[in-house]
Amino acid sequence: MHPSQYQRATDATQAVAAVAARPTAAFVAGGTSQLDLMKEGVLRPDLLVDVTPLALTTISPLDGGLRLGAGVSNTAAALHPEVQRRYAAVSEALLAGASTQIRNMASLGGNPLQRTRCPYFRDPAQPCNKREPGSGCAALGGYNRVHAIFGASDKCVATHPSDLAVALSALDARVQTTGPNGPRSIPFPELHRLPGDAPQQDTTLAHGELITSLDLPAFDGRSHYLKVRERASYAFALVSCAVALEMDGKKIRRARVALGGVAHKPWRLPAEVEAMLTGKKPGEKLFRAVADKAFAEAKPLEHNAYKIPMGRNLLVRALLETSGLQPLQGPAGTAFAASVGGVSGEVAAR
Ligand SMILES: Cc1cc2nc3c(=O)[nH]c(=O)nc-3n(C[C@H](O)[C@H](O)[C@H](O)COP(=O)(O)OP(=O)(O)OC[C@H]3O[C@@H](n4cnc5c(N)ncnc54)[C@H](O)[C@@H]3O)c2cc1C
Ligand code: SF4
Repeated sequence: MHPSQYQRATDATQAVAAVAARPTAAFVAGGTSQLDLMKEGVLRPDLLVDVTPLALTTISPLDGGLRLGAGVSNTAAALHPEVQRRYAAVSEALLAGASTQIRNMASLGGNPLQRTRCPYFRDPAQPCNKREPGSGCAALGGYNRVHAIFGASDKCVATHPSDLAVALSALDARVQTTGPNGPRSIPFPELHRLPGDAPQQDTTLAHGELITSLDLPAFDGRSHYLKVRERASYAFALVSCAVALEMDGKKIRRARVALGGVAHKPWRLPAEVEAMLTGKKPGEKLFRAVADKAFAEAKPLEHNAYKIPMGRNLLVRALLETSGLQPLQGPAGTAFAASVGGVSGEVAAR
């Protein structure tokens, strides 16, 4: 492992200045992603600035919504009564991610900034444009089963791994940061970027820009997160789906949908696809038409075409469950069971 200095942050300004001053310095919070990648020789920062001492660990009301401090643990956020009651998709997404022990360590600020699980990225012996720009992409001609079907480039076909990020994208959360150029407020769907010619850049954050909170706007609808993975104990999404529905009587007033496991960023459905739901009564026929349209432009690689029928079926199921036309799945029929029960067999087979 590359030697690295360690510093505990005293306040946000000092933490930002310390990281911004050194090109290979990095923040560390729970360390569940950062330290893994350092041990594997993928990341080699010369300075780690520990942001856990910062006062970013509260969840508080904000203009009818909720402010989630970046230092709140995944467990604390998932089990917070207001998160569970008003933003079920956030709680479900967090509980569907990793294991209990990891969720206890992991922070909300670190989670959306974790790096891809592309196996070639994590193996320094393989060419990878994200790890080493210009070296090539081993996944393009390799075993690309877990890779992207939307928005990829000829430089990188990786997917973004965070479950939370998919829920935050569907709920139109905002990311509050403080950085070398002062504070910023970023719409969540604009936090991550597509790979293009620069897959080494996962996000639109500047070097040294610190996430201080994730803000959930007021929302009086129902939200839900479903994830297909290879085992229910813990595994990253093959495909996932977050839905946020606001109703006007029996009709849908507004629908927002994001997919996970399919692109380099949480994949918000295009506005015209979400608009197919506006003013309509929920129904399976409508949801199937939306799913067909949502996946019409998908571009599978050699080994991941299965994500198209799986994603279409998952999207229909998520819409049915969110609109109450189908009970939340899982043995106990609870949101928690829905998020952790696993649906791979049934969804894949349809
Ligand atoms: C075995 C295993 C299984 C997992 N399964 C899942 C899963 O199914 N779903 C899922 O979503 N995740 C999963 N994870 C990932 C895990 O949830 C993340 O590693 C964790 O949420 C990252 O949070 P952290 O606080 O540990 O971040 P760290 O590892 O400390 O940091 C991660 C990144 O965020 C940066 N960072 C941290 N805090 C800030 C901040 N406030 N501002 C700016 N930058 C910051 C760091 O510099 C680093 O780049 C899994 C991890 C493991 C090890
Ligand atoms: S898909 Fe992206 S992360 Fe994976 S090997 Fe190719 S360039 Fe690297």
